[in-house]
Amino acid sequence: MTDNPLSGLQGTIRGTVITRDDKEAFTAARFRGWNHDLNRRTNPLGFVVASGVRDIVTTVNYCRENSLKLTVRGKGAHSPYGMADDAVVIDLMNMTAVRVDPDTKLASIQAGANGGDIDHETALHNLICITGSVSHTGFAGVALGGGIGHLSRWLGPVVDSIVSYEMVTAKGEVIRVDAEKDPELFWGMRGNGANFGIVTEFVLKLHDMPNDGIIRSAPILWPDAKAPDVLSSWMKRIARPGRKNTETLQFAFLHSPDGHPVCGVVPLIVGETEEAAKGTCDEVAAYAGGALVRQDTQMPYTAMQAALDDCFAFDKNYWDKGVFIDWDPDNEDAVKKIISTVVEAWAAKPAFASKLSTFILLMEVNGAVAKGDPASTSFSARSGRLWATALTGWSDDDDAQRAASKKWCDDMIAALSPFHVATYLNNAMPASAEDMRGVFSEETITRLQNLKEKHDPDGMFKAGAWDYQANV
Ligand SMILES: Cc1cc2nc3c(=O)[nH]c(=O)nc-3n(C[C@H](O)[C@H](O)[C@H](O)COP(=O)(O)OP(=O)(O)OC[C@H]3O[C@@H](n4cnc5c(N)ncnc54)[C@H](O)[C@@H]3O)c2cc1C
Repeated sequence: MTDNPLSGLQGTIRGTVITRDDKEAFTAARFRGWNHDLNRRTNPLGFVVASGVRDIVTTVNYCRENSLKLTVRGKGAHSPYGMADDAVVIDLMNMTAVRVDPDTKLASIQAGANGGDIDHETALHNLICITGSVSHTGFAGVALGGGIGHLSRWLGPVVDSIVSYEMVTAKGEVIRVDAEKDPELFWGMRGNGANFGIVTEFVLKLHDMPNDGIIRSAPILWPDAKAPDVLSSWMKRIARPGRKNTETLQFAFLHSPDGHPVCGVVPLIVGETEEAAKGTCDEVAAYAGGALVRQDTQMPYTAMQAALDDCFAFDKNYWDKGVFIDWDPDNEDAVKKIISTVVEAWAAKPAFASKLSTFILLMEVNGAVAKGDPASTSFSARSGRLWATALTGWSDDDDAQRAASKKWCDDMIAALSPFHVATYLNNAMPASAEDMRGVFSEETITRLQNLKEKHDPDGMFKAGAWDYQANV
């Protein structure tokens, strides 16, 4: 090898190889990722922007033969693990094709695609698959860790709709993984998928979208001072027995477009008559003496899927932390404790926090998520009633603001600890061993370790995935 450790790749790749020597291109690639704070802290060796599967195979072989660290990221690049110091980053940002077969209701999705790329094609046929709740989040990262979307209460996590994967192994082989060919690897991929190979294509089962893809959604808002009353009514409503899984009611603290702190309930109602859907929203809008602003309306589900996109622009500073929680709805003390915890957390948000990007989200994840067999996939967080997340952004490259943002998120999640049922792998920022306990059961960890030993004995994919081996 010469001084440039990637020189042997240049000329063998049809896509683009970017080394540290190409300063402008290297900086652009490094800061392409979603989280500026993580981008500036990570200094990879270089980037291979792959044009197709062959470039991925070539790069994996090259890295293995030259003992180079390797990570992979898609167009989304939202996670802390898509880049690592001194690693070759295989970037799938140009591999975003989505092909829908309306007869079989299957989609073949290239692994670099984001949620918006998928909705764009599936909506043509009034079909849907679960993607993340921000449409520029990468599908691969969402799907490989479980995948909770706006409509998961109706359709379950992404992993329940996966039919097969095409992937490149640590040996550089291209294999297809499904329930028949390798049931154990198929199980492991659906919940901890970033650990065993590089996925090049997902095949997914799609679902019919009723009412020509039109749903009732958009927020119903109150001043945040009304939050205790709104939360109290909402928590009773979502615990009501016999609710249809096609009804999801999300709660959020956020800022209005003119910068006022507000709280809101966002209905997501699928397949109802307009009269019935509006009736549900009328009931919600009456909470706490009546809403301040009511925007719920009929809209294409693709608009709902992209509604939050502008709140989370690329290359800004962010911290977030989330956990799945549950409680006994008949236990009034538990309900009061959850309400006081989130209300106090919202009041304690840092003064410098970005108004656009600071949220406390309480997303419903029960319904079809809970109905799936916990043993069927390695995604193990099925028992939560809510996914509780604190998320904030800050403007300057300032370590004190970063620390305060992290503390704000950590404190809220810690205060909810009596109600924790699981940590979500996809929701864990650069994680300590302590943070990561609770993602998987001991039994699941043992099975995952066996898979890792079999499929990645030399740790080729270690730098780009949560290293559970180091954390148990
Ligand atoms: C604004 C925002 C909104 C979010 N909303 C949701 C949500 O609604 N639901 C939800 O479930 N999660 C959500 N998340 C969490 C999200 O699932 C994770 O951050 C996820 O890792 C992001 O995936 P990505 O593809 O964008 O990231 P990337 O950084 O590209 O990849 C994420 C991980 O997957 C690995 N990886 C990427 N591509 C491949 C591949 N082809 N083969 C193997 N490994 C690969 C990477 O190495 C890395 O470990 C959200 C995150 C953010 C920042």
